Amino acid sequence: MITVKADRCGYCGACVGVCPVGAIELAETRLLINETCVDCGLCLAACPVGALQAEGYAETDAVPVRRRYDVVVVGAGPGGSVSAREAARLGLSVLLLEKRQEIGSPVRCAEGIAHELLLPFIEPDPRWISAVVSKAQITVEDAATLTGPTEGRQGYILERRIFDRVLAEEAAKAGAQVMVKTAATGLLLENGVVRGVVARGPAGAMEIECAVVIGADGVESQVGPWAGLDTALPLKDAMACAQYLLAGIEIDPACCYYYVGQGVAPGGYAWVFPKGEGKANVGLGVQADQSADSALSYLTRFIESQPHLARGSPVTLVVGGVPVSPPLPRLVTSGLMLVGDAARQVDPLTGGGIANAIAAGDTSAEALAQYEKRWMAGRGRKMARNHRLKERFGPNQRTSPDFLRVFAVAVGGV
Ligand code: FAD
Repeated sequence: MITVKADRCGYCGACVGVCPVGAIELAETRLLINETCVDCGLCLAACPVGALQAEGYAETDAVPVRRRYDVVVVGAGPGGSVSAREAARLGLSVLLLEKRQEIGSPVRCAEGIAHELLLPFIEPDPRWISAVVSKAQITVEDAATLTGPTEGRQGYILERRIFDRVLAEEAAKAGAQVMVKTAATGLLLENGVVRGVVARGPAGAMEIECAVVIGADGVESQVGPWAGLDTALPLKDAMACAQYLLAGIEIDPACCYYYVGQGVAPGGYAWVFPKGEGKANVGLGVQADQSADSALSYLTRFIESQPHLARGSPVTLVVGGVPVSPPLPRLVTSGLMLVGDAARQVDPLTGGGIANAIAAGDTSAEALAQYEKRWMAGRGRKMARNHRLKERFGPNQRTSPDFLRVFAVAVGGV
């Protein structure tokens, strides 16, 4: 029986076309081989990356390759790429590992960011900006629209598929080596000190030594726990999100719309962020311990309840989790630091994490030395305050005027 090496497969479908018995199915990002396979081996020859193997096939590529860098960054989201870029600009040797084969895809984001939070890290560029926004409108379930649309701070709805890739390209331009489809699978530890990473990619398994590992591996982070840092999320601090990119709708292209209420999105909110040309990211997040139903079911009902949205067609489905916990007590340990979603640096009120991830990626020597302290004295303190506010107003109180005033300020910059 032929089997698939999932970490090598590129999901191209080349093998499907040559199979004489229709035993191979490409199920989006999984290749399935069923029992009708006759072991003819034609697919092995058709596979461009050697991801198929016959029974008894010997792993020849799993020999650890030893390499050494000053810094290894795990994860090429905004947090990881900016970390890699800044470290490379300091003249350090940097390796940026990304487990996906395409940086920036699939997108797990509504793509909103305030101009003032983006500017210190990258000059806004029309290549990765879908819409410039300056207004916000908050609608409360079963009530008239609360605010707006009101003029707020300028912000952007990004095209993260391109934005994330540009950040990784900037890291490469600064001298970092970028490897895609290469997942960190563990850490090299010596007497409790992190000395490097174990990774697996198309070239097989490898051990890479380094002075510092930066864990920027997102909400699904394993790097922190591998090093003994507790990053576990209680359900109440996890938002389950679903979003469609809807095409064929009419909304104000400069306005971000927010909808709150237990019936709309328990413990969270729904959003409509314009993407230009009659498109919008229409999604919602529900607090994981509050929802009787899946985020996707709430989203379906929300869209059905809004005739102007129901007219649209979904062209992309995004699902994802957002950590909305208080700041972690520890972001570093010997030889390792965490940034972005891996460090739970998301705003607990808005669920926004792009700006914090890139701010945490400032790996200048001064910033690194003081990383934990500076984070807690600056944006971390604001995140702690927003978490306290989220806790003070339970899910049932999030349509109260007091909470909505706080929420309006938090989303003011998108
Ligand atoms: P990520 O962008 O998640 O990047 C982590 C990277 O690490 C990924 O590319 C992943 O493939 C890679 N990785 C993971 N494990 C490994 C491994 N073992 N080896 C190698 N690579 C690995 N934030 C906002 O600011 N504005 C918004 O409008 C917004 N909307 C959102 C809507 C939704 C539905 C969701 C789910 C999130 C939203 N967020 C938003 C949050 C935002 O997307 C994240 O905070 C942001 O992407 C964090 O960046 P990051 O670099 O820390 O992690």
